[in-house]
Amino acid sequence: MAEFSIIDTYFNRKNLNAIDLGVGDDSALLTPPSQQQLVICADTLVAGRHFPLNTNPHAIGWKSVAVNLSDIAAMGATPQSILLALSLPQIDHAWLKGFSQGLYDCCDQFGVSLIGGDTTQSPHLTISVTALGWIEQNKAVKRSGAQVGDYICVSGTVGDAAFALHHLGHPLQQRLDYPTPRCHLGHLLKDYAHSMIDVSDGLAQDLGHILKASQVGAILELDLLPISPALKTLSSEQYTQYALAGGDDYELCFTLSPKQYDELLKQKLDIKITKIGKVISEQTLNFVQHGNPILLKFNGYQHFA
Ligand code: ADP
Ligand code: MG
Repeated sequence: MAEFSIIDTYFNRKNLNAIDLGVGDDSALLTPPSQQQLVICADTLVAGRHFPLNTNPHAIGWKSVAVNLSDIAAMGATPQSILLALSLPQIDHAWLKGFSQGLYDCCDQFGVSLIGGDTTQSPHLTISVTALGWIEQNKAVKRSGAQVGDYICVSGTVGDAAFALHHLGHPLQQRLDYPTPRCHLGHLLKDYAHSMIDVSDGLAQDLGHILKASQVGAILELDLLPISPALKTLSSEQYTQYALAGGDDYELCFTLSPKQYDELLKQKLDIKITKIGKVISEQTLNFVQHGNPILLKFNGYQHFA
């Protein structure tokens, strides 16, 4: 049975952490830590749509896990395990080897176990990962918690992946192929942030989701955006476009009170955070450059465009 030998060969490694039953039975078994809420999300990558067909399989494996861990981190939660639903056009052992290695490399880096899934044949290569994590009751950081007067912050740098997509072969392609889910920062922010989202479809659009859910607006200072040196060699219009409307950053965008911001800066952080604006009551997203209001219309990535 080809399906079972694929599972056994590539997706049945020993679990890292407290899993009661993993791959091999009809379902997996987990014991919820006491007083914790289950945090669960799913993301699908379709070949030719979310990555070019010839993408390195190791990178596809890494990214299919990373984008889900990023969603768990964006709730302030800690990821624990994933399920993998894989639809393959054919059995390609070289591809499966690279893919599973990339998937496990990302799992290992963040202490996550692959506990089950499904393997089927289909004309299109489709990878669907479900991630599970835990957080203390009522501590999850939602999109809807932004408050007037909050500072708006973002981790890392924005625009790198969008830049890399247009400059394939550039060293920044690492940021496109191997995004780093901000798991440590997300976990820390559950005690600081009022609202949070991970930036997958472009900062302007994703911040827009926080503003809409929280029924507030924002002033964003374009001069403060964290931009990589490679992008700074472009015109400011171009890098601002990548930073605000490019996708695939997988950084965390969050809001918090000025007091909590000061407290956060005293913590040991594994990634730089940058204050880029503040939350206002008028429900619009406003941009300021060199101290002056500037009119910009950006759209993020639209899945059904
Ligand atoms: P069932 O027929 O009961 O749905 P399957 O034959 O699909 O079970 O799967 C057998 C076992 O292998 C299950 O534990 C399932 O979770 C696991 N599994 C199947 N495909 C994958 C995969 N791609 N990655 C990880 N586990 C998988
Ligand atoms: Mg099945």
